[in-house]
Amino acid sequence: MVCPVCGGKSTGKVGVDQFYCWDCCVEYRQNNEVLTVFDVAEDGTLVAWEEELSAPYM
Ligand SMILES: [Zn+2]
Repeated sequence: MVCPVCGGKSTGKVGVDQFYCWDCCVEYRQNNEVLTVFDVAEDGTLVAWEEELSAPYM
């Protein structure tokens, strides 16, 4: 699966419908048509992005 944030392919599956991007160091989860991106804190906590994915992040 291509990373929805950077469009890169350095992604790995870390759970059911859950992926990790090695370039962005974010996790993202696809749930039907809803895609949620998480920052991974140093202690492993997932912090969901509040912005819409269509925003220009790069
Ligand atoms: Zn990425």
